Amino acid sequence: MATPLILDGKRCGDALKAEIAQGARKVGDRRGRPPHLAAVLVGDDGASRTYVEAKVKACAKVGFRSSLIELPASITEDDLLDKVRALNADADLDGFIVQLPLPTHIDADRVINTIDPRKDVDGFHPVNVGNMVLGLPGFLPATPSGICELLKYYQVGTEGRHCVVVGRSNIVGTPMSILMSRNTYPGNCTVTLAHSRTKDLGSITRQADILVVAIGKPGFITGDMVKEGAVVVDVGIHRIPDTGRKSGYRLVGDVDHASVTARCSAITPVPGGVGPMTITSLLLNTLLACSS
Ligand code: NDP
Repeated sequence: MATPLILDGKRCGDALKAEIAQGARKVGDRRGRPPHLAAVLVGDDGASRTYVEAKVKACAKVGFRSSLIELPASITEDDLLDKVRALNADADLDGFIVQLPLPTHIDADRVINTIDPRKDVDGFHPVNVGNMVLGLPGFLPATPSGICELLKYYQVGTEGRHCVVVGRSNIVGTPMSILMSRNTYPGNCTVTLAHSRTKDLGSITRQADILVVAIGKPGFITGDMVKEGAVVVDVGIHRIPDTGRKSGYRLVGDVDHASVTARCSAITPVPGGVGPMTITSLLLNTLLACSS
């Protein structure tokens, strides 16, 4: 197989950000203030902090206002819910996210369900999930919708193809399977959703024309599990200790790129693939929040 096409999320994200910046200027002209996104960070998990800071930085790049709200890991669920209600009521704020995962004493579903769906720019609230399933307007979950934007940017054909999604989380795998089966582009795939109880996973993944992997296990999908010429989307992101690097770690995905690259026709890199697209989708949702 020839060298695969790299589905470059940074490049696609930058192109979309130029359009988002234009939209932000129009919003600013219309209502006298730019779009405003807030991110709530509970505790001090290193990876979560990195993600949240990247989101805040991306806001500056497109001319959004951003607020980083840091709360201690010891915050009670009731206090966090009060904070969420205050953000719902803040007329100066267009959208906000509560970075997951939350400390174990807090029920993430209760927190998500308390967010006003009109400000739920992560697209996790049941109202937005329901709208997605029904194909109605609403906020799409950031990671799957970012993957769709990436497939669009690289004009990856999807109609009639078999898409296998590995992983059924509420934020990635399940919504991805729904978006790929919709009667639209990208979509119109025949979709298989695999998970930890799937038997003989390799026999399923080898049928995929488009393989989306979101399982949270570094390098889990190897070349022998991938059909020759498949398009592979690697959602996973893991810090692996690496003493050879200044940071002390390197980032890898759920896909073993060394063996999969030799078989696929296109693949998302890690880092620089799905990650930047997730952030771009969040910005798109925030811009959308300003029009409602
Ligand atoms: P979750 O842990 O919530 O879900 C993992 C899913 O993978 C579950 O459905 C689980 O199945 C399934 N699974 C686990 N082991 C296997 C296995 N051996 N075979 C088949 N299926 C398996 O993960 P997320 O969806 O939240 O995240 C997945 C990965 O993507 C993580 O590495 C995360 O960091 C990354 N991520 C990256 C983002 C980005 O922007 N780049 C955004 C969000 C996540 P079951 O349901 O049966 O337990």
